[in-house]
Amino acid sequence: CMIGVWFRHDLRLTDNTALLEAMNQNEQIIGIFHVNPKQFKIGTKNHESFFKACRHFFEVSKEVGFPIHLLYGEIEAEFKQLIELFPELTSIYFNQSERGFGKRRDEAMCQLFAAQGIKAYHYQDSHLHGANEIKKADGCAFKMFTPYYNVWIKQKKPLFRQIDSQKLAEKSVDETSKVFFEERNNQFNDLIADFSDVSEEEYGAKPVRQRCQYFIDHHLAEYATKRDFPAVDGTSKLSRFLRTGELSIRELYYRVVQDGQDSQGKETFIKELCWRDFYNMIYAENPDQQTVEIQEKYRGMQWNQNKQLFEAWKKGETGFPIVDAAMRQLNQTGWMHNRLRMIVASFLTKDLLLDWRLGERYFSEQLVDYDPASNIGGWQWAASTGTDAVPYFRIFNPTTQGKKFDTQGAFVREYVPELRKVESKFIHEPAKMTRQLQENSGCIIGKDYPAPIVDHKEMRQLALDLFGKQ
Ligand code: FAD
Repeated sequence: CMIGVWFRHDLRLTDNTALLEAMNQNEQIIGIFHVNPKQFKIGTKNHESFFKACRHFFEVSKEVGFPIHLLYGEIEAEFKQLIELFPELTSIYFNQSERGFGKRRDEAMCQLFAAQGIKAYHYQDSHLHGANEIKKADGCAFKMFTPYYNVWIKQKKPLFRQIDSQKLAEKSVDETSKVFFEERNNQFNDLIADFSDVSEEEYGAKPVRQRCQYFIDHHLAEYATKRDFPAVDGTSKLSRFLRTGELSIRELYYRVVQDGQDSQGKETFIKELCWRDFYNMIYAENPDQQTVEIQEKYRGMQWNQNKQLFEAWKKGETGFPIVDAAMRQLNQTGWMHNRLRMIVASFLTKDLLLDWRLGERYFSEQLVDYDPASNIGGWQWAASTGTDAVPYFRIFNPTTQGKKFDTQGAFVREYVPELRKVESKFIHEPAKMTRQLQENSGCIIGKDYPAPIVDHKEMRQLALDLFGKQ
């Protein structure tokens, strides 16, 4: 008999629930990964980053003697062929997706496996607590974060478990030299041929451990006070590793609990991990939330259709320095600071009155840590349409936000070079500079840097009217 372990957003050979469960059986194991090139969007940072992480994972797995066998193409046809190829295959183990596309795919695949006589074993692995674990006393799902958190924090957290790589290698099946897999491997390599080389510093267990340890040693204690300032290296930047599964959420939790000194920072950080579980649960409870507002009264809003405003937002050319710096950080690095995600999302929906779905989609392509549950949750929060969202009348003023969280403009100067020489006094309102000051700073408004594309005060009033009448 043989077990298949199907990897997806769990690219690691340590503390991997499905793999551990498979290893507890007295059988040989074949490692599997499926790629559907039709779902791959060329040029999106999200997918490229994910496939780079995959490539690195395949290399590492091969090195430890547990090679991953690639399936490539339409998923049902590929698995059917795999099952035909290996009559000794009796079961498939995988870490399930609890929401969205992944959930629908898993349900369809379980049906296919059952029809083929294959047993499917699936596990909640991606979150500290799964979507169905934390409930109100009456068994219903929570809608508000704080009561959810109050229950969540008291629950015992699952343990972090290492995997013995020698034992794994002994159980491993290596059929990668079969023509079937060689063909698929070549197809995958063609797909990612244009990708730049993966550096050891960016992918896999080594940078994850280093980053984790560095954050815990240097920033965790002050996380609560420093996490809102984009020019400060105050957050963990571990989101991408959590999304690909290169980092186990349980490992992160236990490192923080055991190695982090007790502090407000530690408490706040653990609360952020709870937000991740909360939004996963909210997405599972509201399967159509990617396209539909959770709060019914906001469905059918008349959003602004102005494409030029959307283009200016995407490019970081709105004339609001903190918004522009944030969008350029996203476009250049594939990551954006949390405070800035809130600012640009508020700006898109309340200052430009553009549909939050446009922003959600743009983030889905650009973010290397794109996670549908957290992203949709964040967007619906900022648009005031989600569960436990910001009330529509509490509208961020982008200039005030800039002054508060990037007072001297260090972050703006990093990403908006046109403004580098502008005095701190005007860094968040460069259009207020006299002509003389503009010349002195080498930044003529309207030529080197745009004037604000909207008037915040006017748009704020329009937003209040639009949301208020729903
Ligand atoms: P840290 O501050 O170090 O936090 C540690 C971890 O906690 C993060 O890696 C993340 O997994 C989790 N976390 C922190 N804040 C949140 C939050 N508000 N919601 C859910 N989880 C959180 N996060 C994503 O992982 N993917 C997304 O696609 C995403 N889109 C967002 C869109 C909007 C509009 C907003 C407002 C927030 C979004 N977030 C998203 C949440 C948050 O911005 C990022 O998780 C965080 O900035 C990642 O950086 P970090 O790892 O340094 O976070």
